[in-house]
Amino acid sequence: MKINRILAYRVELPLHETTYKWSGGKSVNVFDSTIVRVETDEGVAGHGEVCPLGPFYLPAYAEGVRTGLRELGPRLIGCDPRELTKLNRVMDAAFKGHPYVKSGIDIACWDILGQATGLPLCALLGGRYGADFPLYRAISQETPDQMAARVAGYREEGYRRFQLKVGGDPDVDIQRIRAVAARLSSGDRLVADANTGWVQHEALRVARAVRDLDVYIEQPCATYEECLAVRRLCGLPFVLDESLDDIHMLLRALNDKAMDVVNLKISKLGGLTKTRQARDLCVASGIAMTLEDSWGGDIATAAIAHLAHSTPSELLFSTTDFNSYVTVSTAEGAPQRKAGRMSASDSPGLGIRPRSEVLRDPVVTIS
Ligand code: MG
Repeated sequence: MKINRILAYRVELPLHETTYKWSGGKSVNVFDSTIVRVETDEGVAGHGEVCPLGPFYLPAYAEGVRTGLRELGPRLIGCDPRELTKLNRVMDAAFKGHPYVKSGIDIACWDILGQATGLPLCALLGGRYGADFPLYRAISQETPDQMAARVAGYREEGYRRFQLKVGGDPDVDIQRIRAVAARLSSGDRLVADANTGWVQHEALRVARAVRDLDVYIEQPCATYEECLAVRRLCGLPFVLDESLDDIHMLLRALNDKAMDVVNLKISKLGGLTKTRQARDLCVASGIAMTLEDSWGGDIATAAIAHLAHSTPSELLFSTTDFNSYVTVSTAEGAPQRKAGRMSASDSPGLGIRPRSEVLRDPVVTIS
């Protein structure tokens, strides 16, 4: 089986909440997502999705996905999409860095492997654990009262895990965390995600001011070294996200005992092949994970679901259902939330069928 054509589609994904805000005044109103279609000489086609969280979250931007595909795509014509590790080596040799550009192709080739073998991706990624898995809800940065009200509303919908977007004024952030914590019950999980928004002394002030609460601190500062200093002093369970962008940083952080939970995003690491490698290293090290992506719709959510469902339950801290945040559905068959939980499809591959009326004409064609 050989890749004989690569297509990419651009899809706009507006939000039900109209805007998503996080540290440093950053926000997105409409997500710009790229859906990648990889076709083969045997008629099997697979799909993937890459949707950066704007151009100011990670070193990734939406038009960069398409531009990168135009550069990388021609090098992949003729490759066997089922040989995932080998394909990733070809991509890395042909195009240095830019993991997010490679992510959509890698996911699409896993989709092809699943269809070719008749197996759902979660079986190929290691096996299905349990009937379903827990989701977290990201709470956009607003006033403390507004965020507490959002949490109460999403708790009514069944969510039990919440990720508060903090990383603003430390005094207001302390109020945000306290206002939300007051709405939670035993068994709920609360993460205060600063998304690199605090400097070291601010992070320590916030952590000490909420030390009596059951709360996790996520990626307080911009650099790994600042985060490590905060982690060693704060005494609260600690999550790293933005700092862990490849397997080498993950190995270093595991060696430093720099976190209790890691947030692995598929496109941050460069696809399912590399995220599975990082996931399995965390499993072997007893480190729990939030498994997700930077953003996306139905196809990204399907890929996330297969990765999450193939992760031992006790080490899956949470994951997310991006397709419930956005107003546009790009595929049939994508997993849907039920009472704050989700499960991966039993169908071969990702188990999705893209909606051609939503994707419309490709913006990239490589053959
Ligand atoms: Mg995070």
